Amino acid sequence: MVSRIIPVDPFDLVVFGGTGDLAQRKILPGLYRRFWAGQMPAEARIIGAARSELDDAGYRAMVRAAIEEHVAPAKREPEQIDAFLEHIRYVAVDARGEGGWKELAALVRPDVIHAFYFSVGPSLFGDLAERIHAHGIAGPHCRIVVEKPFGHDLASAKALNATLAQHFDETQIYRIDHYLGKETVQNLMAVRFGNILFEPLWNAQYVDHIQITVAETVGVGGRGDYYDKSGAMRDMVQNHLMQLLCLIAMEPPHRFDPDAVRDEKLKVIRALDPVEPADLVRGQYGPGDGLAGYLEDAGQDESDTESFIAMKVHVSNWRWKNTPFYLRTGKRLRARKSEIAVVFKDPPHSIFGEQEDRRGNVLVIRLQPNEGMNLRVTIKEPGPGGMRLVEVPLDMSFADALGPEAADIPDAYERLIMDVIRGNQTLFMRGDEVEAAWAWTDPLIASWTGRGDRPKRYDPGGAGPEESAMLLHREGRRWREIKE
Ligand code: NAD
Repeated sequence: MVSRIIPVDPFDLVVFGGTGDLAQRKILPGLYRRFWAGQMPAEARIIGAARSELDDAGYRAMVRAAIEEHVAPAKREPEQIDAFLEHIRYVAVDARGEGGWKELAALVRPDVIHAFYFSVGPSLFGDLAERIHAHGIAGPHCRIVVEKPFGHDLASAKALNATLAQHFDETQIYRIDHYLGKETVQNLMAVRFGNILFEPLWNAQYVDHIQITVAETVGVGGRGDYYDKSGAMRDMVQNHLMQLLCLIAMEPPHRFDPDAVRDEKLKVIRALDPVEPADLVRGQYGPGDGLAGYLEDAGQDESDTESFIAMKVHVSNWRWKNTPFYLRTGKRLRARKSEIAVVFKDPPHSIFGEQEDRRGNVLVIRLQPNEGMNLRVTIKEPGPGGMRLVEVPLDMSFADALGPEAADIPDAYERLIMDVIRGNQTLFMRGDEVEAAWAWTDPLIASWTGRGDRPKRYDPGGAGPEESAMLLHREGRRWREIKE
């Protein structure tokens, strides 16, 4: 397969927070990889903007170090890195003051696409929006990219949307959820809407249930302060898991167009039932395996914040009535794994008689590790010995089917930043989607807070609290294993 890299138009990308962790780990290495792949036009410029007093040379040295740390050796050719660094500039800017803004305004070219990436804490989003506007660099070609968290609850998300709306049109605002930039997430739409095979079965009549798992092995170390005020519901479910659920559950949009796709996702969020307390399990990891527990990691003596959450969710519409969606996410679990599993019902009648341990068709969409999909189907076990059935995976490995180049999947941030430059908002959250997600999340949080619910302690390296397994067991189902 020949890869088709389509260069984007010339642009100026200003990375506010360009010296921060996200910029150094994801944004700048991602931009380098796009340059390496030939997607960046010669006139493109990337302007780091942060508080540190650096000049271009100092910032380029920092970017070089970030590339050396975060880009695979096969793509780190010294001449390529040097050529990429030619595109880099730096301006010391204070989001809360006037320092640096005149210099920045003089640097940004009004006649090319310019994007402002807000890779800073959310408390600065409003200040940045205001100053970009005040300094006359918010022209018609301008876009802003906003990182998570987008608010802490419905009220703060509304306030943030209102602040941004004072200076930017919704078509200029790109709210990032990097889960949407993953190759397999987009493939999910291709599989659903590009084939006739799946869509007729994609409903309550044929799907027994759906599992969405985002499991991490890491604890909250380093982000403890932020995390303790947030918890798994706000940090993961309200955005990432909800977005995955939307893509699985939504109706076919009439076109693959940003607003058509986002309209359908919004309808799913609005169709979510409230979750009963008995259908929700919160957990907090204890110490073990030589590792600190949550409280120590978060620097708290006491805390009711959940580092794990599992729940049964219903989408109340014709397609999904009574089909449970089980969501779970947590830290310090057995493996780092994100996947969606669509578990189909058994055939209505088995002509082969009872067979032990038979499980039905399952379509698994793997987000990490090894992005890909597989479909478990039943076949006859080869050889003599009668009609014994076995389940085998039909593995849709991109590399096998499409050649080795296809296995070189761009990181989610790379793809999303290029979408910003192209002006394609399909994989970004619209303001009303974010608000609807909070409108569903807020009462759940208020409900457990009001009940004085405390998270269940779970051991590190497992699958979360026992009660999470019970959530499915009591209905004759079981979670897929958390293993790589
Ligand atoms: P960080 O603390 O490492 O970096 C913050 C950056 O903001 C620095 O470059 C700093 O110079 C700049 N800054 C701070 N105050 C400033 C001011 N007054 N004026 C100008 N610049 C200022 O933070 P981070 O981890 O890179 O996170 C940035 C944003 O991205 C946050 O909103 C965070 O929630 C979000 N985010 C981060 C990650 C991650 O993996 N780090 C993941 C998802 C979302």
